[in-house]
Amino acid sequence: MENCLFCTIIRGEIPSAKVYEDDLVYAFRDINPQAPTHVLVIPKVHAASLGAAEQLTDAQLAACLRACGKVAELEGLAETGFRVVSNCGKDACQSVEHLHFHVLGGRAMKEQMA
Ligand code: 5GP
Ligand code: ZN
Repeated sequence: MENCLFCTIIRGEIPSAKVYEDDLVYAFRDINPQAPTHVLVIPKVHAASLGAAEQLTDAQLAACLRACGKVAELEGLAETGFRVVSNCGKDACQSVEHLHFHVLGGRAMKEQMA
């Protein structure tokens, strides 16, 4: 999508720190990390959020989740653990309207999720 920030990052028109990439998914470091490891996993096809998941194929969606695990492994979080978050819409404070999964780790998370 032309005016979408994350689509622009996928096209390489805005620089990003790549962590992982395959045919369906791109993963890069969050510009404002909230944990020692904070990586964003995004599908290469635009969909605004999980609320628009029907715009993606099962393969595209599954690739995102598989990539979250792959990123955790690459970042050395497989043993210690990690958290995956996808903010959807206003109440969840979604600020970029291209589906993304935050992969967070490197320290103990709070038990309360929200
Ligand atoms: P949301 O608030 O929508 O769940 O998450 C959007 C995330 O994108 C935020 O954590 C924010 O720091 C990150 N972000 C926003 N703009 C950029 C950018 O230009 N580059 C990178 N790497 N991350 C960004
Ligand atoms: Zn997009």
